[in-house]
Amino acid sequence: MTGERRRHTSVRSYGDLTSTEVLAAMRGATLVWPVGGLEQHGPHLPLSVDFDIPDALARQVVRETDGFLLPGQPFSARSLPQSGGGLHFPGTVHIGGAAFIGYLTHCLTALSALRPARLVVINGHYENEALLFEAIDGCEPARTFPDTEITAFSWWSMVREDWLGEHVPAFPGWHAEHAGLTETSLMLYLRPESVRAGRPDHDTPPQAGVYRHPVDVDLMSNQGVLSSTSGASARLGERLFWHVVDTVMTALAA
Ligand SMILES: [Zn+2]
Repeated sequence: MTGERRRHTSVRSYGDLTSTEVLAAMRGATLVWPVGGLEQHGPHLPLSVDFDIPDALARQVVRETDGFLLPGQPFSARSLPQSGGGLHFPGTVHIGGAAFIGYLTHCLTALSALRPARLVVINGHYENEALLFEAIDGCEPARTFPDTEITAFSWWSMVREDWLGEHVPAFPGWHAEHAGLTETSLMLYLRPESVRAGRPDHDTPPQAGVYRHPVDVDLMSNQGVLSSTSGASARLGERLFWHVVDTVMTALAA
């Protein structure tokens, strides 16, 4: 079966279960939760990029594990200037960090009562990562999830260095891959109808791990794009998507 056909088969949805079915369905099951965002992604990509990518990956992990898909979490932790363009551009719908941790903690606590064999959380928004990990760790999983193996990651953490070296030689760092080559390519593969024609390049990506005030938006980005989109293609997106699926499945098997 080709990758394309494998990607378009339907998945089992957690939300389709009834209350009388759910506990038995979770026994031995993998539950997959995409955590995303709604954030500006330049003039060429939709606001939903940080949701669309983990959602597509989560659906594939559900297929490969015969698991269940939880409805994705669509809203972002706050977008920051050096990793997402921040709130200098319209469209970002964000949750403050404390509220985001609280929200995730409540959801995780509710999910723990279901005792799935495995919970996989796939993040697609750069600024979510530390908050997501804090929420899981703050639940004290040894106590809250005694029978559940938890694997949480940002999708880009599953991209191997050798893959990057081969396919993205001028890699600017993941903080700056915002609306850049990798996200544009993935969207050209996953949702080509949503990608607009303009592809801004930005030659001087912001430095990782530095916060500046005042910020010069035009110096930091080109119309909200932090790095380069040159060379983006559906073919590269397809390769990246299946590379990440492979590394995720290897990680889950380990
Ligand atoms: Zn993004």
